[in-house]
Amino acid sequence: MTPELMAAGGRARQRMAELAVAADDGGRSASYARRLQPGVLDVSHGPILYLDDITVSFDGFKALNALSLTIDAGELRCIIGPNGAGKTTMMDVITGKTRPDAGQAFFGSTIDLLRLNEPQVARAGIGRKFQKPSVFEQLTVFENLELALAGERGPWAAIAHRLSGAQRDRIDAVLRQIHLKDEARRLAGLLSHGQKQWLEIGMLLMQDPKLLLLDEPVAGMTDEETVRTAELFLSLEGEHSLVVVEHDMSFIHALTQDNPRKKVTVLHEGHVLAEGPLAQVQANEQVVEVYLGR
Ligand code: ADP
Ligand code: MG
Repeated sequence: MTPELMAAGGRARQRMAELAVAADDGGRSASYARRLQPGVLDVSHGPILYLDDITVSFDGFKALNALSLTIDAGELRCIIGPNGAGKTTMMDVITGKTRPDAGQAFFGSTIDLLRLNEPQVARAGIGRKFQKPSVFEQLTVFENLELALAGERGPWAAIAHRLSGAQRDRIDAVLRQIHLKDEARRLAGLLSHGQKQWLEIGMLLMQDPKLLLLDEPVAGMTDEETVRTAELFLSLEGEHSLVVVEHDMSFIHALTQDNPRKKVTVLHEGHVLAEGPLAQVQANEQVVEVYLGR
């Protein structure tokens, strides 16, 4: 063995020893390393989403007016408020579709969302469900999930690519989660409106997002589909963080389950009018006046 190789081997052993020590310190050095790594989600300080003083103007009209909002890692947060309150605009800001005039938006403590474009936000781990379902109607349910797995590599990569066992298992798990196991071979175009919404949520889940943004997910669903959607979201809570915008108060009830620790946020005229447990928010006079009492 040459002296150079001996020296290289020594350096490698030294590096292994350092890594072993790093793994032994309760993860402190690991989280330190994470913080130094740009673009990697860090929620060790609590919030997964941090919006501060966000303002968005359209021709002088403030769709968001100094909006500040924090979502904790693993939290399921319901957001309610009248039409035009700025709920969808808030999601547009988080996902890089709309740039605010002022304010800050962070994903975890390190990722500055206002520096990322839409595909970069998605890659960072934020999945968004729009109001209208957009699935590939001429493909089967299974194929839709397969495409979503391919993600940014594109549909041609998915077609050329053979699924591994692990990938099949992953698709099966999501099929069960979204209640479409028995529909796997059906064309997506033949599903009910509610099932299409679930399929689209399943497509988001294939990308394993850390934060899910769901804009009026139960609009147009039957009562039974609404109940099942609440169960689905509750099953995702914890492992994922969810921001759910909805008008259907029975759905909000199902998601909060009278748990006083679960917060509901009321948006009005581009900022937070009230925030707290559902019962408290529902008793708020201003909230009743601008939203619930109509
Ligand atoms: P919500 O989702 O709470 O109903 P939106 O965020 O869609 O409210 O809209 C907030 C306000 O901003 C509304 O008055 C809406 O008309 C306005 N708005 C939203 N997007 C645009 C846009 N691209 N151009 C002009 N006005 C907009
Ligand atoms: Mg909206």
